[in-house]
Amino acid sequence: MILIMLGAPGTGKGTVAGILSKKLGIPQVSTGDIFRKNISEKTELGKLAESYISKGALVPDDVTVKLVEDRLNQEDAQAGVILDGFPRTTAQAEALDKILENINKKVDMTINLTTPEEEIIERIVNRRICPKCKSVYNLVLNPTKKEGICDKCGAELTARADDNEETIKSRLETYFEQTSPLVNYYEEKGKLFSATVSKTINKMGVDVANDVLKKLEGE
Ligand code: AMP
Repeated sequence: MILIMLGAPGTGKGTVAGILSKKLGIPQVSTGDIFRKNISEKTELGKLAESYISKGALVPDDVTVKLVEDRLNQEDAQAGVILDGFPRTTAQAEALDKILENINKKVDMTINLTTPEEEIIERIVNRRICPKCKSVYNLVLNPTKKEGICDKCGAELTARADDNEETIKSRLETYFEQTSPLVNYYEEKGKLFSATVSKTINKMGVDVANDVLKKLEGE
């Protein structure tokens, strides 16, 4: 099963993908996480990715597509994956269609998350991540029991380098210019499931994940 998480930064793609990954028993493939791992390990890919990520721009399509293609060929991806943060451009979506066609697979559902823009900024500036187990917290919406310490593994939390107000603005612009056309791309293919994640309608990641599971069961 191939699921895609679509949505602006800070809408909760990673959270929903994590829940779905556990429930469905298939890996969450986050291109952002792969880039961050390479940055922390100071690999060539990490150095290249950092030069784009720090500006809020996208890593070039050829590099990103190759990364995902290799990941899809790995043993643990054979039953399916949840793509979190890929595709992000029409060229990436078209390349993914070709890759999947070659391995006799197809996109089963694209989950499009939306959140009011003012909430997005608030969510991103308050986001904290665990560098060890990758758990994601929010200082306001989802705080840890002990300040600054991961509930799950006890490591010290950090903020993502690109979660500052200046970079967030470029990331949002990049999203609206280059990624949002994918909403139509998948809608036209009849593959889109949209959900709003917002404080005001009290829809949390776990509710969205349950809605997705119900929809998948009904198909
Ligand atoms: P994320 O963790 O998904 O917010 O991704 C963090 C950053 O990694 C993005 O702002 C991009 O610079 C880069 N990135 C992640 N996924 C992609 C992708 N599919 N294409 C290009 N750049 C990406």
